[in-house]
Amino acid sequence: MGSVKNKIGRYGPSPQAKGRTDQTTSMHKPLQFYSTNLKAENLRFHEALLKGQAPDKGLYMPVNIPQILPEEIAEFREKEYWEIAYHVTRRFLAEEISDDELKTIVRDAYDYEVPLEQVYERKYIMRLDRGPTASFKDFAARMMGRLMQHYLKAGNRRLLILTATSGDTGSAVANAFYGLDNIDIVVLFPRDEVTDRQRKQMTTLGKNVKVLALDAKFDNCQALVKQAFADPLLDYLGLSSANSINIGRLVPQIVYYFYANAKLSSAWEQIVFSVPSGNFGDMMGGVLAMKMGLPVKKFIIATNENNEFPNYLISGKYNKIEPSRNCISSAMNVGHPSNLARLVALYGGIMDEKGLLLRAADMEQMRNELWSVSITDEETRKTIGEAWDRWKLLLEPHGSVGWAGLLRYIREQGDQLAANQLCVSLETAHPAKFPDEIQKITGIEPALPPSLQGIDNKPEYLSELPNNYTDFRSWLISNYK
Ligand SMILES: *Cc1c(COP(=O)(O)O)cnc(C)c1O
Repeated sequence: MGSVKNKIGRYGPSPQAKGRTDQTTSMHKPLQFYSTNLKAENLRFHEALLKGQAPDKGLYMPVNIPQILPEEIAEFREKEYWEIAYHVTRRFLAEEISDDELKTIVRDAYDYEVPLEQVYERKYIMRLDRGPTASFKDFAARMMGRLMQHYLKAGNRRLLILTATSGDTGSAVANAFYGLDNIDIVVLFPRDEVTDRQRKQMTTLGKNVKVLALDAKFDNCQALVKQAFADPLLDYLGLSSANSINIGRLVPQIVYYFYANAKLSSAWEQIVFSVPSGNFGDMMGGVLAMKMGLPVKKFIIATNENNEFPNYLISGKYNKIEPSRNCISSAMNVGHPSNLARLVALYGGIMDEKGLLLRAADMEQMRNELWSVSITDEETRKTIGEAWDRWKLLLEPHGSVGWAGLLRYIREQGDQLAANQLCVSLETAHPAKFPDEIQKITGIEPALPPSLQGIDNKPEYLSELPNNYTDFRSWLISNYK
């Protein structure tokens, strides 16, 4: 167990610690990534990226958190989104990719705007919904796809990505990987459980994207994918996954926290961020940004009625919710966040893949830095209505959970919170993806963003399959020889 011992407490200075030094040496040595289950060997970034999950079923995390000095953070004020993305992600990719190639990738991936919308005083919404599939998952998927393509091409390899989706992940990944040379992608979705628009975002692509509609639930789709990964008859396909546990999805999600700071803050000040959370990939990006040196006063982790995390933060005891509760913020219907093991690791604990706490985390430090609240569907709807009436702020259900969480925090802190405290709540999807709910509440029909226009009339390419592994395997073998 010596190696286990070495691996804890590695995360040196606390985020608020002053006088930290930049680890310039890390720019010359490739960063290593360890598995949160501590039973797999450390890997370099590109290896962890192409692997996805560690062989011991843990999640990859950087052995050291790269630091960004206050002077450099201040310089971000003059930079565009893709430039900040370059400077932040480069810390994780030292010796892994040339500076020029990384620049090309981020410039190409982040060619859309990231609006910061003032709601009142210094309270803002950051809209992460202007990518090609109108959810924040585009930020991660687009960079991850391009990085994978880069490494596969260099190694003259191909990959077949299998991904099961309940909506947003499938479309973000399919769009991000569409047209890449060394990657094929198969998306499985439950036929009756996605909206028409969500389906069309996947089925209207074609080329290297194949889509399977299954007469099944999301969990069945997920199970078929897992069975395929474990099937020796399919070894020849080079199967990989693109789900939210891949380190390649986490690193790009650090960037927009630095961006918000750069564009809203003219002096060194700590921001309150509110993050509507399901699998906790988004909030992990934020917490990593803080550990890299971004000044943060508090992260508000706003969940829907799946309140396993708020309960854990209060009690220190973790109980997942099975089955997860169905709420209108459907992308956050998660009863056990897949990234929680990473958060626990950052605070010195160990959580295995089943959600068992093998070593407690430092709860006191966690409570210092995070605040969490569960928002009911009733409050989510009410918040959409009130935000529109009061500020002409248009929210969809996920962003509404985040905004409601922020309002609760502000109310609870009362006078302790300075009136001019800078606060940023994340909006993770475009309201036009949820037209029915929003029209019912506010009476207005959200306009389609350019990326979704025309989609209703495009031809669709998809195959239908029964919920049966033998059929799924035959389909894979006949389509990818
Ligand atoms: C996936 C998703 C979330 C939850 O993000 P996590 O990283 O899983 O916490 C929130 N909102 C939308 C719209 C999403 O698609």
